[in-house]
Order: sequence, then C-alpha cells, then structure tokens
Amino acid sequence: MSSTTQRTLDLFEKTGAYLKGHFRLTSGLHSPGYLQSALVLEYPEHAETLGRELARRLRDITNGPVDAVVSPALGGLIIGHEVARALGVRFLFTERDTDRKMALRRGFAITPGEHVIVIEDVITTGGSTKEVIDIVADRGAKVLAAGSIIDRSGGAVDLGVPRVALETLSVPAWDPATCPLCAAGEPVVKPGSR
Ligand code: ZN
Repeated sequence: MSSTTQRTLDLFEKTGAYLKGHFRLTSGLHSPGYLQSALVLEYPEHAETLGRELARRLRDITNGPVDAVVSPALGGLIIGHEVARALGVRFLFTERDTDRKMALRRGFAITPGEHVIVIEDVITTGGSTKEVIDIVADRGAKVLAAGSIIDRSGGAVDLGVPRVALETLSVPAWDPATCPLCAAGEPVVKPGSR
C-alpha cells in the first residue's frame, strides 16, 4: 500500500466518511459499507490535496494536452473542480434531467476534438462515469482517461479508457434480491437521506 493510498483511506476514516451498516447505493445495489466522500470534501484543503494527487496520476497516464474535466453531479463536483484547477483546465458537469437522463446543461459546450478527463468521487459500478463518457464522445471529443478518489469495485470496473483511483477497495455490493442484510431483516439506509 503506497503512502498516498494510506493517506486517502486515513482521511476517510478520520472524517467519519467510511460508514459501516446496510446501505442502498446510487447504483441501486446494497452494501455493508458506504464512502461518504462529502465528509472528506467538506474540508477544502483535503479536496485540494486529493485533486492535486489525482491530477498528478492522470498526467502520468495521459499524453498531450487536456482541455477540460467533466464530472457527474453531485458526487463528482468538488473533486472534479479540484482536478481541473490542478490541471489548469475548464471544469464542466453533467446532471440528471427530469426524466433521470444524464445531460450536459447550463450552456456548457464541448467542442469536437477536445481532450477530456472524466472524474467521479467514488466508482462502484462505473455507471455514472460511463454515462459522462458517452455524452463527451457524442460531442466528438476524446476521453483520455477517467479518475476517482476511491474505486470500491476492487479494480473490476472497465470503462474502456485508462483509469486511476487514489484508493482501491473491495467492498461488497449486492443486488437487493440476494442481499444477505435484507435477508437478515436489517433496515436499509439511503446515505445522505438524513
Ligand atoms: Zn440489503
């Protein structure tokens, strides 16, 4: 385990951001662990440190200039902004419209031929990041790489582009139908709902 990896996990534990229990994730899967990155990122100095480190790792795996960082709201907003600041490029975000479809709104423009990096806070299934990658590709831009503070898939998620994470964990995530905590009658919590 590298010192950076240890620092990242330490930050989550120190700020109470690594929750244990029975959670319904954004993906719909159930899990005994939840990484509430908002509790780390509420400290701007931690956000800056993590963003700078992610930017450094991304520079190592990408060749040539980057034009913009794009993140899915809400989870990717703060860390994506910090990565963009560290890289000295624009920061744009996607959000879900009224029919839950991920979209680029607010007049944000991505020009064909631009080189983009996609940043999320935590990758579980990679679903949100994939949606952003598709939106960027639809506009004729090239996604050079993707990054996240945490990869909780144990490295299993394949986004079709090079990917980095400051910390890789294997936290179980179950379909609700096969969730052992549901089977045990444990009430499920949607993190952030209280
Ligand atoms: Zn469950």
